[in-house]
Amino acid sequence: MTYKNYFKTTSICLFVTFFTIISCNKSDDLNGTVDETLPETIDLTSLPFGGVGETQILIRNQGDPLPDFLSLWLCGLPSNGAGANNASDWTNTDGTWNYELKPQVEGNVTWNHIFDINLDGNGNRIITGNNLPDHPTGIFPIQPGTVAFQYDGNPNIISEQVINYTLPALPQIAQEANCVFFGPAGFSVTGAAIYHGASTLGTDAAAHEMLDRFGGHTDGTERYHYHFPSEDLQNHIHEHESGHAPLMGYMLDGFGIFGPYGENGELLTSADLDECHGHTHPVLWDGEMVDLYHYHWTYDFPYNIGCFKGTPQ
Ligand SMILES: [Zn+2]
Ligand SMILES: [Zn+2]
Repeated sequence: MTYKNYFKTTSICLFVTFFTIISCNKSDDLNGTVDETLPETIDLTSLPFGGVGETQILIRNQGDPLPDFLSLWLCGLPSNGAGANNASDWTNTDGTWNYELKPQVEGNVTWNHIFDINLDGNGNRIITGNNLPDHPTGIFPIQPGTVAFQYDGNPNIISEQVINYTLPALPQIAQEANCVFFGPAGFSVTGAAIYHGASTLGTDAAAHEMLDRFGGHTDGTERYHYHFPSEDLQNHIHEHESGHAPLMGYMLDGFGIFGPYGENGELLTSADLDECHGHTHPVLWDGEMVDLYHYHWTYDFPYNIGCFKGTPQ
């Protein structure tokens, strides 16, 4: 809270009586910011491109030694990057991009989904499965003749993958944040991988690559994975009614990733979160309220993780 806001809030509280004292007390959240601007909104027709301006794509092995606010901190870029890179048809004149205008990969392909999350009683969360999601996907490879194919000739199929991870059930914040690698950065409770926000070309994947209505697609490893927390994906996991968003998955350091709504039900953006795209406050964790660090998936870059706050497996 700035002093200016503090005096403003205080004088309003002194001026008015009992009823507003309640709302004044409520206006401070755990981060010490004032929620006078709530409800916060984000315009899906005007999203920032990752890698442009403040929303950086930092690459540790190319000279970026630290993560940064609003940014994605990658460990490196693959040498054989491929993918779609023309977003001009849904780029606004001010340089932002329009999610509503961007085509999607059509289709409703259903899968033989296997997925389990278990606590072993020794402090571990064991995640196993075949990476096939519990919801239908678009048709991959992207079919010639479809609108999506005009922008993205993604030739890869979706196939079964072995998921077998042992994560800490109650993860700890590491002394230093860790950079994010390509491949799975976590797993959604739907049973499929969560990838960070960049393509192998080092651009904003959600803004450039053709995704299905669940915000996912496949790659050269034939692994179905998400880049964007679409409403269809959120509603499939759990429809948001009020308050904090429900758990959407686990990142590979063991911390949870939740949907885009904060403690008061407000829509979060990356600006509300730290350099790794998370924050700490009590959340529902294995059936109890625990004061724990967690990530949020938001509609703006870097979408999910900016760095690992813990130690990834
Ligand atoms: Zn991808
Ligand atoms: Zn939260």
